[in-house]
Amino acid sequence: MSLETVLGEAKDIVKKVVPAGVDLTRVDFEGPVVVIYTRNIDVFADNQDIVRQLAQGLRRRVAIRPDPSLLADVEEAEEIIRNIIPEEAKISNIYFEDETGEVTIEALSPGLVIGKQGTLLNDIKKKIGWAPKVVRAPPIPSKTVDEIRQYLRSIHDDRQDFLRRTGRRISREPSPGEQYVRITSLGGFRQVGRSASLLMTRESKVLVDCGVDVSAENNGAPYLHAPELMPLESLDAVILTHAHLDHCGIIPILYKYGYEGPIYCTAPSRDLSSLLQLDYIKVAFGEGKKPPYESPQIRQAVRNTIPLKYGETTDIAPDVRLTLQNAGHILGSATTHFHIGDGLYNVAITGDIKFERTWLFNPAVNKFPRLETLIMEATYGGYHDVQPSRQEAAKRLKEIAKRVLGRGGKLLIPVFAVGRSQEVMLVLEELTRKGQIPRVPVYLDGMIWEATAIHAAYPEYLNNQLRTQIFQSGENPFLSDMFERVDSNDMRSNICDDPDPCVVLATSGMMNGGPIMEYFKAWADNPKHSLIFVGFNAEGTLARRIQKQAREITVNDKGKPLTLKIKMDVETIDGFSGHSDRLQLLNYVGSMEPRPERVLIGHGEEHKCLDLASSLYKKFGMETRAPYNLETLRLK
Ligand SMILES: [Zn+2]
Ligand SMILES: [Zn+2]
Repeated sequence: MSLETVLGEAKDIVKKVVPAGVDLTRVDFEGPVVVIYTRNIDVFADNQDIVRQLAQGLRRRVAIRPDPSLLADVEEAEEIIRNIIPEEAKISNIYFEDETGEVTIEALSPGLVIGKQGTLLNDIKKKIGWAPKVVRAPPIPSKTVDEIRQYLRSIHDDRQDFLRRTGRRISREPSPGEQYVRITSLGGFRQVGRSASLLMTRESKVLVDCGVDVSAENNGAPYLHAPELMPLESLDAVILTHAHLDHCGIIPILYKYGYEGPIYCTAPSRDLSSLLQLDYIKVAFGEGKKPPYESPQIRQAVRNTIPLKYGETTDIAPDVRLTLQNAGHILGSATTHFHIGDGLYNVAITGDIKFERTWLFNPAVNKFPRLETLIMEATYGGYHDVQPSRQEAAKRLKEIAKRVLGRGGKLLIPVFAVGRSQEVMLVLEELTRKGQIPRVPVYLDGMIWEATAIHAAYPEYLNNQLRTQIFQSGENPFLSDMFERVDSNDMRSNICDDPDPCVVLATSGMMNGGPIMEYFKAWADNPKHSLIFVGFNAEGTLARRIQKQAREITVNDKGKPLTLKIKMDVETIDGFSGHSDRLQLLNYVGSMEPRPERVLIGHGEEHKCLDLASSLYKKFGMETRAPYNLETLRLK
């Protein structure tokens, strides 16, 4: 549909709904949204029905924005806001979002910003034109979130161009002819790591995830040279399910090899993945390896990300509509649902899912309007992969902590910065607060603090109970003074040498590098201490070898091999995982609405994928398969 047609249709619809005198100044495609500019923004604010009717009529997501001529210059507007709001409100941040014409005012006392019956806000709006939004200042400031906001403002024009280009591409006229739907497994099938699936129709191509296999000796990328994916310019969209490196680790490389299109994911996934990608290249440099991309490509990925909320249906290609739903796995993790053609076909890709309420999140969503093929993970899909409950996991952590700290030892817990760290923090805080384990310092090393701050910046993605605890009762467990952030090499060596008991949570979770290695080198040969695994360890990682009882290992120490004898206790606490165990996976499919006709299984070791495939077939009679990497299946 051309812009002129859209503008014409929009004007017709508005004329039907609004009596007279509404002035539409411009219409544009900005990414997946049709943006209509008007000089009469109040008419739309008072009548949400017009926006709904426009969206229905145009069959697109519609946003109404004030005509730019109505918006005060940003610096001037900020000054006006600061003059109007009383100082006691304690404004911590003001940021303008050109893409929506909104200004967000962060304050310690939001009520004082709003004023009696909203008087102050109305006053601000009248004077500056921008729509003011008030939020409570996040309890832990996040450097990542701030930097990304500033960066996006600094490249505003560039980003507008990008959004327009993307919008026009989505709105292209589809070519006529026979329609089909295919899926190519480019990585992460019959294995864990380097997840990548390519969804193809006659008209479009969508890549879901592009992760790295961190245990691979070299490269560890998906099969990006597969003919289905080439050339990268032919790709319409990249969708990111969540920010773990086995899903997002290779995305920036696409921008190095010619991709210029959008990435769709939740806002926390955007922020967390740029944090983890930056760390990934830093760790690679530290080990003397050449990282596959550099920070400019990470920035370009941020520039090209179009954040979506759970449940928001969005056109991402002429014949593909995407909806993200909560996956319960980590902050912002999503299951992707694709509606293809006009009722032609429906595919969902789970990404990593947790089908149980956790300390942090609500369980994964498994209800969709329609669904024919489901592609699901099988990390714990094996016959014996039944995991203890969250409560049992907490109990084991309590027992081990009591024993080890009681004998003057240290607990060393390798964790992913995102997900497991925050769960373990919440449990340790509660055990300490209730006096069930000795009070000792808990050191957080390697981005855990920053990842926690990003959690605090997006409370709407946490489960209700934790959100209430953080905001209403003012008892933010993450802010407990038992947590100390390790922010220098000196501090790290002091902790390594300190004889007193303590707990250290450090990355990387699978012990392939990162600060965890420093503590491990210092404490491995002391039987007083304990190393505790709380997450999944992929085959081929150091963590997996230690977990499988290796008692002597050789690690890289500043480029030289160093042999360590492991005398510290090695324990595994199951039940903290962000993945569904076997029973939860079976329940997820069993209670799914509607039940899919076909299930493809990946993200698991080979025998686990096969186990889950045969169980689902026997239990529910659906067609199941565990594709190999590089297979292409025609779905329709
Ligand atoms: Zn994950
Ligand atoms: Zn994963």
